[in-house]
Amino acid sequence: MIKKIFPSVLLILTATLLVMGIFTYHNTKGLYYDFVEDGLNRALTAIEGSILDSEDFYDPSENLMIRHTMESSDYRITLIDEEGRVVFDTDRDAETMQNHADRPEILDALSGNPTRSVRYSESIGADMMYKAVAMELDDGSTGILRVSMKLSLTRDILTMSLRELAVYLFFAFAAAALFSRYLIGYMLRPVKDISFFAKKIAGGDYEERMSWYANDEIGDLATSLNDMADRLEETFQMLSNRNVELEVILKSILDGIIAVDPTYHIKIINNSALQLLGVDPNRHWVGKNLREILPKDSLFREMDDVYAKDGDESVYYKEVKIGDKTVRVAYGKINDNDQVNGYILVLQDITQIRRLENIRKDFVANVSHELKTPITSIKGFVETLREGVDDEATRNHFYDIIEMETQRLIELVEDILTLSFLENEESGREGVEDRIHPGVVLREMIQMASKLAREKDIRIESQIQSDLPEIPFKEEYFRQMCLNLLDNAVKYSPPASKVWVTLKREEKYLKLIIADQGMGIPEEAKERIFERFYRVEKGRGRKEGGTGLGLAIVKHIVQSQGATITVDSEPGKGSTFTVTIEIVRY
Ligand code: ADP
Repeated sequence: MIKKIFPSVLLILTATLLVMGIFTYHNTKGLYYDFVEDGLNRALTAIEGSILDSEDFYDPSENLMIRHTMESSDYRITLIDEEGRVVFDTDRDAETMQNHADRPEILDALSGNPTRSVRYSESIGADMMYKAVAMELDDGSTGILRVSMKLSLTRDILTMSLRELAVYLFFAFAAAALFSRYLIGYMLRPVKDISFFAKKIAGGDYEERMSWYANDEIGDLATSLNDMADRLEETFQMLSNRNVELEVILKSILDGIIAVDPTYHIKIINNSALQLLGVDPNRHWVGKNLREILPKDSLFREMDDVYAKDGDESVYYKEVKIGDKTVRVAYGKINDNDQVNGYILVLQDITQIRRLENIRKDFVANVSHELKTPITSIKGFVETLREGVDDEATRNHFYDIIEMETQRLIELVEDILTLSFLENEESGREGVEDRIHPGVVLREMIQMASKLAREKDIRIESQIQSDLPEIPFKEEYFRQMCLNLLDNAVKYSPPASKVWVTLKREEKYLKLIIADQGMGIPEEAKERIFERFYRVEKGRGRKEGGTGLGLAIVKHIVQSQGATITVDSEPGKGSTFTVTIEIVRY
């Protein structure tokens, strides 16, 4: 800035001093001319008086005043008659001189208004000042007295004084230049400070403050800037706190949140959203276009649709498929002064909810179906009996069927209740507190299962380790689990086969293994047998009196107690179910 102002100041200084110099030159010149004219006037008065007194206008060579003037000064005296002829001249021969009637000073004198005339004299070869007066001579004619002086003398004096003036002006110029340089620097210092301060603030250093407190406009400006910096610092602090809060909220929220600008460039995206969209969470996605991430996705198609809609309602809900996930999306517009400034998408993964809903629907349908068969059968036999069956053996057979179907119904309802109880328990479970002796309980269950086994001539061989520790397991559940697995092993084994039951410790685990020589389970059904009402073949299980819920109950029990179950089977050769329970749990 100083580089701009200083040359301008120098220019103004030069121009001022130049104008001053020219003015002084003219003024001094004027003064000198006045001074010379004054001399001429005095000489004119004296000589005019002398000529008029001595009446020697036409022969002035003996005039005392003229002689005296010639001797004592550099004045040139010329006498001219009214025709303009030169009568006498102190410097030249009057005879040889031109007619002077047209000289301005002569014309002025004749008109009665004598003025000075400055011009170059050819006869003298120098600048001269002339002044003339007209006199009434005794013979009635008019004579003109002209006194003139070379200006070269005065010009020398003028030049000298102007040279001096130039020296003074030069010093004045130098002093003024130095002083103005200092003054500009001094006055620009606060501007420099302010500029430095503004740069710091713009660079994000909100702690910087100005220390210019002079009681003037700059001081006021510094105070205002400091106030502004205070407010900026406060606002920035507030914003960064909000940002941190927002980041924590976005991170901790389970729903996916995406904010985009009107051209779909991402402004905010949280980890849940990245996970839902199945994109790399370690990459930087802010600034990228959402279309690049989801070029063909239905989420995007819906988005275009929703955002094309006008209207007051600013949030729309849609259910879309993203990959194999079902996602509920809330689409919101960010409006600012009737202008759409961007969009917000809130993504909620409802795959699990939809899956559970489907399972529940299937379950209800299955339950209805399972209940319908025995109820229809009971109803049919009761109606037949009411119509009257004479044969006692047939009647008893019908009673047996009704009893069997009723038992089936009871078992089905019991299993459904157990399952629903387990589901409720599971959601409110807080660790397993019961401890049991697994060997003791298992022996009891083998005894219970032996009744059915004997009917089919199946032998249950058990190998139960003697020194087994207590394990954390709900006794009632352990009973149910063992009974269901043993029941299945016997149910799905051919008569006169064997079932092996093993209970042993393997390091920190307890293993319950139930193996049979039955029909086995095909590979593709191994996972599915734990589903409710799943049967390997439609007839299998139902014929044997199973409800189709036994293994679903076992799976729930195992999960609720923190254990695992696996099945190993070869169709036609037999199946082995293994339950692994952690003995010590911390
Ligand atoms: P169910 O009450 O019908 O036995 P489960 O849930 O206990 O129902 O068993 C589901 C299906 O798994 C059965 O219908 C049967 O087809 C098959 N299954 C279970 N245990 C065995 C086993 N030990 N051997 C062969 N198949 C089995």
